[in-house]
Amino acid sequence: MSEKNSNKVGKVYLVGAGPGDPGLITVRGKSLLERAEVVVYDYLASPKLLKHVPKEAELIYAGKKGGVKHTHTQEEINQMLVDWAASGKTVIRLKGGDPFIFGRGGEEVETLAESGVPFEVVPGVTSATAAATYAGIPITHREHTASVAFLTGHEDPTKPGSNIDWAKLATGAGTLVVYMGIKNLPIIVKNLVDNGRDPKTPVAVVRWASTPEQRSVVGTLETIADIVRENEIKPPALIIVGEVVTLRDKIDWFEKRPLFGKRIVVTRTREQASELMAGLDENGANCLEYATIKIEPVDSYDELDEELERLHEYHWILFTSLHGVKYFFDRLHKKGLDARSLNGPSVAAVGRATADLLLTYGIRADLLPAVFTGEGLAESLLDQGVEGRNILIPRAEKAREILPETLRGAGAQVTVTPVYKNVAPQGKQQELRDDLASGKVNMVTFTSSSTVRNFLAMLGAESSDDVKLLMKDVVIAAIGPITAKTVTDNGLQVDIQPENYTIPDLVQSIVSYYTK
Ligand code: SAH
Repeated sequence: MSEKNSNKVGKVYLVGAGPGDPGLITVRGKSLLERAEVVVYDYLASPKLLKHVPKEAELIYAGKKGGVKHTHTQEEINQMLVDWAASGKTVIRLKGGDPFIFGRGGEEVETLAESGVPFEVVPGVTSATAAATYAGIPITHREHTASVAFLTGHEDPTKPGSNIDWAKLATGAGTLVVYMGIKNLPIIVKNLVDNGRDPKTPVAVVRWASTPEQRSVVGTLETIADIVRENEIKPPALIIVGEVVTLRDKIDWFEKRPLFGKRIVVTRTREQASELMAGLDENGANCLEYATIKIEPVDSYDELDEELERLHEYHWILFTSLHGVKYFFDRLHKKGLDARSLNGPSVAAVGRATADLLLTYGIRADLLPAVFTGEGLAESLLDQGVEGRNILIPRAEKAREILPETLRGAGAQVTVTPVYKNVAPQGKQQELRDDLASGKVNMVTFTSSSTVRNFLAMLGAESSDDVKLLMKDVVIAAIGPITAKTVTDNGLQVDIQPENYTIPDLVQSIVSYYTK
């Protein structure tokens, strides 16, 4: 029986998105996003969280950036939540930080309550505690302070009728954290000093806390307004006032990570970018993901299907990429077969990751070359003797011919079967060119020759001079010698190349480059 939508009761979940790092949402918040039908999200909620939302869900940006014209008024947002719920939807209202701390979350649920709409509220990590933590400032500390107050700096503190009793607050709490206070910073510090707080009290201002864009400056009540102006620190930022700020000298950890503040372009395929990005992220880098390759199935699997019928005739099957493994086994499974079809031939993998993936399909590679390249694999096979051997290579539609050619040259019978194809995705050209031209990018990483070629194709460069100009101040990291050669063949220089051609080694070399 089909359910009538009008009978379904909608519900609104006010969910704290956390301060910026998408990893700082609660488990409850994430699981709600995973079953959202409508998401109404703010400027301060990390857009990266939207990847948890089902594809069919409606995404509504509610805006609200201080000083900029609001996309929707608060009343419109309140009404929108009521209307969507009334139409039977599961609505997630995703708000930066904690919904009930200076986020007008209270007003939103008041409207829901008045309208009889069912709702729940999921707290979040508020930006005050996150900014303190990520700036290396324990917000309370036994030796420095036993109390903390959160206040808004949005109100003009000179106006009569301000909700903030500065006379009491100035010395009333050990640590003060001020939200939305950048514009009024000079008046805020004056008010604190005028009301008895020591002008030498340390102050930190932290912008975009917990994200790769985080920036912090430190001063005292006397100096901080000038420091913020000189350093052009803009909202969103928090002001932390109190003796605890001095602890930052000792325990600043986030901004001290080796790659902090470095913008690194990752050019792997979307599917494979994660390991490299995770490694770079872990070291504090700001990864800009440009998936230069999109992996797609080949148009026809007739060729592969024929080979799958006669796998027993092969002496060797060579897997030269992760995708080769994946698409080969996907098709095998689709045909109702499994790893047992490979009980005849020996299996070789080009590198460790490919061998590891094979293992997850139930196959332990019989051969792993000393050097993880097509040439390395060819050499290891030649050592075993390939004359008269039947060899199958399931791989990309377009790939280097060195492996099959070398093997044929040594008398092997080689069948190359395309199981997937690489295509360069379109559409990000201007964004990439702008990022490079503005000097925003510190490094570009390449993990295969096709990432180099597709990267250049994506740049849409007119000439090699155009490329050189765009890449003038950009450091280039290449995973191995073949990739590096493709880079130099295109008139660019390789600055970083690990000794071993693996992602962890690449990450390590990048870290060493910036720490040496
Ligand atoms: N509900 C939110 C606060 C919303 S008010 C929370 O709990 O964090 C908006 C203010 O929050 C901004 O003006 C800024 O002062 C602060 N803020 C939010 N995210 C921030 C971040 N990542 N870094 C620094 N300040 C942030």
